[in-house]
Amino acid sequence: MAYLPLLFRIQELLNQRKLLLKSIADAEKNSDLTELKSRKTEYEGKLASFNRKLASIQKSQQQLNLELKACDAKILREETKLYDGSVINARELTQIQMKLAEYANHKRQIEEQILKLMEDEEKLSDLKAKIAKSERICRHKLTSLTEEVKGKILEYQFELNGCEAELNELTAKVPEEWFEKLEKIARSHQGIGIARIKAGCCGACHVSLSESLLQKAKRGEDILLTCENCGRLIFY
Ligand SMILES: [Zn+2]
Repeated sequence: MAYLPLLFRIQELLNQRKLLLKSIADAEKNSDLTELKSRKTEYEGKLASFNRKLASIQKSQQQLNLELKACDAKILREETKLYDGSVINARELTQIQMKLAEYANHKRQIEEQILKLMEDEEKLSDLKAKIAKSERICRHKLTSLTEEVKGKILEYQFELNGCEAELNELTAKVPEEWFEKLEKIARSHQGIGIARIKAGCCGACHVSLSESLLQKAKRGEDILLTCENCGRLIFY
């Protein structure tokens, strides 16, 4: 069996596998994906903060509405005294009028606070809506990019499986020491341990080979021959 062409194919497959593994690793750490993920987290944080602020405003509004009711009840009580004929002297009348003025003042303050809270609530709701829209867009982009990346990884994985299967099949066919030799040379020669002879030259370093070496190679015997210049395995 001619082992050299097998060895050459094994080398192609090893390099293909290396590239595929790198492509998978690169796809997994896609920088756009990382950026979208961090933006999404940022938007979610902002939305949670808006929700907390809005809840706090609503609580204050409820509190103020209760205070307003209590104030109205006090005003009604004093006004009733004024009109039910129970006031018997001028001093008492003055006291009631003073209380009414105080309550009216308090009521105005509460109403102002309620108005201010309503304005704050509106502003916050507008901001929240804007962030929610950005978050939605970001989430959709993230979903589609995640799908795209997953699809790509699946394609690479599929190719890798094919590559591994062929590698397993071929490495079982060549003598172990040949495979080890290929790996050893490839390691110190940028992944290229075996080259085809082209026009009398080594296909890797492109230096002319001696006539005697070419003659040996031409015989087509399955023996390990190495380039006199770069030391890689060579074959026709
Ligand atoms: Zn060479």
